[in-house]
Amino acid sequence: MAVVYGPVPSWRLGKSLGVDPMPPPKTCIYDCIYCQLGPTRVKEFDPKAVVAKVKPESLALELSSYLKKRGSAGIDYVTFSGSGEPALNPYLGEMVGIVKGMVDLPVALLTSAGNLFLPEVRDELLGFDVVVAKLDAPEECSFKLINRPHPKVRFDEVLEGLKEFRKGFRGILAAEVMLLKEDRLGLDTSKDECLSALAELAKELGFDEVHLGTVIRPPAIPTVRRVSDDELLKAEGLFEELMPRHVTILSPLHPRPPKPYELKGIEGLKDEILSFLVRRPSRAKGLSLGLGVSLKEVERALGELESEGLVSSYEYMGSVFYKPKLTNPSNPFK
Ligand code: SF4
Repeated sequence: MAVVYGPVPSWRLGKSLGVDPMPPPKTCIYDCIYCQLGPTRVKEFDPKAVVAKVKPESLALELSSYLKKRGSAGIDYVTFSGSGEPALNPYLGEMVGIVKGMVDLPVALLTSAGNLFLPEVRDELLGFDVVVAKLDAPEECSFKLINRPHPKVRFDEVLEGLKEFRKGFRGILAAEVMLLKEDRLGLDTSKDECLSALAELAKELGFDEVHLGTVIRPPAIPTVRRVSDDELLKAEGLFEELMPRHVTILSPLHPRPPKPYELKGIEGLKDEILSFLVRRPSRAKGLSLGLGVSLKEVERALGELESEGLVSSYEYMGSVFYKPKLTNPSNPFK
């Protein structure tokens, strides 16, 4: 499984070259009900309890080979993210150093922030230029319902971890807030009282930015629903009252312009598509934009992958999504 993947288009970070330091099976501190990667297979919060399959040497080799072949032109960020919680890899600090030594690009991390209460984890994250941390709930009860954390992870500890991290971190700290509804659980985070509490928390924790999103890809729990565009705009207004000019909506409400396409060989393209889909089940159009390849080529490659039994398609909210169908029994998407 490739450690370096993409680049993928990102509303927050432009065109992002991905680094996945925790490849499948999905290993995470949380098991969010909206997660696009399906259920968490290994739930853990302490890097010491996890076997790090990706070591700094393998990242250095892959990144060097990627840069020799493609260079870094057109890439805006190198982003540590992928198929689980990156902050469970104990070598993160060393890896950031490797990336910075090889390419002159800002380095970002997408994290649940669920283990920032561990001082050794906070230390590993100090070298990033941007850290995007989850903030989906304003209190313990909805935190447990939405993020379904490891049983030993408490909401007050997560907040404490974020506060401590903010004190030592000199880069940009952004909160990512996923707004959603789930009727059976009585969840609707687009309600005014919930939004106001989240906005106050984001301000108190010292976030530089807030990124508001909703469910646009198939969620782990099918009954989880997105909030409407109007509700997103209302949420933006409420957050803006406390943090003027620091709030962005991540959704097709604010699409980014597509990047220029280029031609790639079909076999290489099929490998890239598989690597992409493991981290992000996608539509053909999303793959086309993410990989910088024409829609026609992507559809041809997907057709071949489907007939080879390597990907399967399914419908969600009127769109056809693709996901990998690998033969490895530890594959979380089987
Ligand atoms: S959304 Fe992120 S934090 Fe939540 S379960 Fe999925 S990978 Fe983990």
